[in-house]
Amino acid sequence: MNYLNKKSITDINVKNRTVFLRCDLNVPLDSKLNIIDTKKIDESLKTIKYLIENNSKIIICSHLGRPKSKNDSKFSLKPIANYLSKVLGKEIKLLPEIEGENTKKTIVKLNFGDVCMLENIRFDERECENDENFSKYLASLADVYINDAFAVCHRAHASTVGITKYLPSACGFLVEKEIKILGSALKSPKRPFVAILGGAKISDKIEVINNLMEKVDTLIIGGGMSYTFTNALGYSVGDSICEKDKISLAKNIMAKAKEKGVKILLPLDNVVGLKYSADTEFKTVDSDKIPNGWTGLDIGQKTVKLFSETILKAKTIIWNGPLGVYEWKNFQKGTAGIARAVANSEATSIIGGGDSAAAIQNLGFKDKVTHISTGGGATLKFLEGKSFPALEAIDEK
Ligand code: AMP
Repeated sequence: MNYLNKKSITDINVKNRTVFLRCDLNVPLDSKLNIIDTKKIDESLKTIKYLIENNSKIIICSHLGRPKSKNDSKFSLKPIANYLSKVLGKEIKLLPEIEGENTKKTIVKLNFGDVCMLENIRFDERECENDENFSKYLASLADVYINDAFAVCHRAHASTVGITKYLPSACGFLVEKEIKILGSALKSPKRPFVAILGGAKISDKIEVINNLMEKVDTLIIGGGMSYTFTNALGYSVGDSICEKDKISLAKNIMAKAKEKGVKILLPLDNVVGLKYSADTEFKTVDSDKIPNGWTGLDIGQKTVKLFSETILKAKTIIWNGPLGVYEWKNFQKGTAGIARAVANSEATSIIGGGDSAAAIQNLGFKDKVTHISTGGGATLKFLEGKSFPALEAIDEK
């Protein structure tokens, strides 16, 4: 499933029409409700500006977090509406009542070219239930539906799936970009194609590994999950994170890779700590010499060199997950080294959200990679080759 041929915002008439625009403006906020990272909002601007230029009346819809009740002001879209007003230079009216006469009246009264925003769509529990009546109500507010919320396209909710039954629908520029970059890399990658997988556990990434195994030339494995592989090769891993019940799976993956001619690269050396803590004593040891009582918390520099050699020869790179406990200063070097290699490579480089995206951004390499996905969980699902209900719901061109 690659969705490369789905209808785009440019294939549908939005001029002088009321557009229901589903965005993912689910940005992190601090305790004072200031936005910590505006990336997701900034990435949505291209579609919003295009609609303004086309004189559409725009109803922006987004969720924020997972509110338990309607009145939880922590989850209000107010800071996001304020930020958008500032960057667009026009007032974005926030409609506190998702369903109601006031909301309908305000939308009717808006001028074409104006923008309003519904309050957090998850304040209404019918959103996540993909409720038919709620979907119909949302559709009744507009003439056209545009989905620009890639991060929730794997979810069948009223504002991502239900609504498409009742309105002509298309993808926004951000969804189109995500599909094009991720979809093309999986469908027809320039080779060598290298996937770098890190993160805590193999069990979270089994399906990604299985799907990528069919497509890549080399699979680089680091982070917590590498220790299950190292253990499967017969080496002791001390107190490192190791999923004993996944050892036979790791063996099967390595056997399958051999059969398919896919190279698997595992760490040669590791930074190990005496305890699982930020300020523990640490040292570097080879992967076949992890002492009892020590925990693997990062890849070592020999490994960074080995992985970097392959990364620098790649033509397509997909990276998901840190190579160590990146949150702790003493164990960041491995992930930072890999981020540097990815930034220096001339490959099409795709960063699959989360910690790997943070590493690339923190190190100032944001502009040196091809694409940082806004997807998180959705990107992983895409890499698993899973079907996306919200994209299935959009017609082909
Ligand atoms: P994921 O969400 O699966 O990509 O996992 C990210 C988490 O993996 C981060 O919070 C890292 O701290 C953690 N991680 C990476 N390497 C290790 C390791 N060697 N031991 C324990 N946790 C790790």
